[in-house]
Amino acid sequence: MLQIAFIAHDRKKDEMVNFITAYEEAFKDAKLYSTGTTGSRIMEKTNLNIQRFMSGPLGGDQQIGALVAENELDLIIFLRDPLMAQPHEPDITALLRLCDVQGIPVATNIATAELLVKSMMRGDFAWRELVHKYKPE
Ligand code: PGA
Repeated sequence: MLQIAFIAHDRKKDEMVNFITAYEEAFKDAKLYSTGTTGSRIMEKTNLNIQRFMSGPLGGDQQIGALVAENELDLIIFLRDPLMAQPHEPDITALLRLCDVQGIPVATNIATAELLVKSMMRGDFAWRELVHKYKPE
């Protein structure tokens, strides 16, 4: 089962909710994670079940980062606000760095999110199942 995480900064939350609503069907068989408010907002508008972590500024990015460090996540959709300074910028940088360490697909804007989700729907993420299967102990 694919494991996917959603994070959206405040001014990107509507965009995230609209996006997930449009692609709800594609996410219904995955195990879903999110930061606190992002997850609440998505669950209000969809039937998806999401395991929510702390809000981003309170450590949610780091909790998702812990899953990334274990190579557990297959896709992250992280709609960042490029025009607003974030108090938890170091956590954001750390999360993206860990995605690069593990080679995890991460979309930081809606255009990339769209391409990755379409790719996922085509079955292009099968290689991630192999990562889970052959993960070192
Ligand atoms: P939130 O956290 O989903 O709890 O708002 C995301 C963020 O703003 O970093």
